[in-house]
Amino acid sequence: MFEKILIANRGEIALRVIRACREMGIKSVAVHSTADADAMHVRMADESVCIGPPSGTQSYLSIPAIIAACEVTGAQAIHPGYGFLSENANFVQIVEDHGLTFIGPTAEHIRIMGDKITAKDTMKELGVPCVPGSDGGVPDLAAAKRIGEEIGYPVIIKATAGGGGRGMKVAQTAADMEEAFMTARAEGKAAFGNDEVYIEKYLTTPRHIEIQVFGDGKGKAVHLGERDCSLQRRHQKVFEEAPGPCITPAERAAIGKVCADAVARINYIGAGTIEFLYENGEFYFIEMNTRLQVEHPVTEGIFGVDLVREQIRVAEGLPMSFTQDDLEINGHAIEVRINAEKLPNFAPCPGKITAYHAPGGLGVRMDSALYDGYSIPPYYDSLIGKLIVHGRDRTEALARLERALGELIIDGIDTSLPLFTALLQEDDIHTGNYNIHWLEKWLEANMA
Ligand code: ADP
Repeated sequence: MFEKILIANRGEIALRVIRACREMGIKSVAVHSTADADAMHVRMADESVCIGPPSGTQSYLSIPAIIAACEVTGAQAIHPGYGFLSENANFVQIVEDHGLTFIGPTAEHIRIMGDKITAKDTMKELGVPCVPGSDGGVPDLAAAKRIGEEIGYPVIIKATAGGGGRGMKVAQTAADMEEAFMTARAEGKAAFGNDEVYIEKYLTTPRHIEIQVFGDGKGKAVHLGERDCSLQRRHQKVFEEAPGPCITPAERAAIGKVCADAVARINYIGAGTIEFLYENGEFYFIEMNTRLQVEHPVTEGIFGVDLVREQIRVAEGLPMSFTQDDLEINGHAIEVRINAEKLPNFAPCPGKITAYHAPGGLGVRMDSALYDGYSIPPYYDSLIGKLIVHGRDRTEALARLERALGELIIDGIDTSLPLFTALLQEDDIHTGNYNIHWLEKWLEANMA
């Protein structure tokens, strides 16, 4: 059993992991940059180590500093959270070379899924349905044009190493191909140091449906249903819910089984998410995330499980504490992502919190590292909290969300909260009638 776990992250996700550790009787070690000396994760952990200056590259991404912090504190395992080093196969290798345990999948699985072409090939082989497109990388513009004609426009050009919505460009017609191809390549090169791209059919009205999977690393795996994350701005999720309003129990069971079987076959360990676009009753694989996701609490809400606890258990070599048959959906959960951003342009808006009051009551969960008087540093992601509500059904969850938003106070900075209050006035949100383009169109009409 681990006695001490180091959390290589900050903000709400660091708190999330510290909470699981505490409930399991495991000591936690926070690491922090000089800019985060007063951060909540530092206050809440049992111990903390300063690992560098504000810049993420010199602190939360500094592998030597994190390994040294483990050695100094005697932590036996590292939980990476999401972002930062969570999907860095090289980091996993180094952690293991130092005799420490990485709480997450193997370096090999991270490597396979981190390269979108290899991921797609692997999933295809494992029987997971994929978006039609180029088989592998597209070497040049001439090949791109040929493939565009073959699969039919519109198409999307994606950087193999892309992530976070970057390195993707849509070509509506052949005339757009040159610019889209060159831009996707340049973005891939600039953001990820890799200019390889591939092409997919661009689906025009899909929903983003993702399946949560969990493996024990020994050939057993389960699925925990889907999350609908179709409400996106610039390919970034802002509102997520489970179960998906348009997915039937039969569809869930079928795609869930395909996903659980696929990860079981590769002896996948820990939490993973297989992301799909869903259109006209068909699922099309787009990518797999080999980590805990920001939106994992909606799944925890409807299944009543603690995914971080399970991650720690399987990393210790213990079995999962549930089987597929134990997993039954109870009610409906919704998460909204609260960003320190100023509407209508969503410009980052760090600064000092002059008043903070978290909502409470039945079915309300607030995952946030904010506190009264906290100064949000300008160096990191703008996500400052997640409000998660759970109800007996979707209608109750939406009513609860509205009620909880009414109680929540974050003063001193601008946040994305007004967006959610406004969205709750929309019929389409109440009927669940939205796809991945709905929010962009709504923003254009309502916030331009
Ligand atoms: P990232 O790794 O940057 O998150 P993904 O491949 O997961 O990229 O895609 C992110 C989002 O981009 C999807 O949720 C969807 O909104 C859009 N998208 C990706 N592929 C397609 C496609 N083939 N057709 C239409 N939209 C797509």
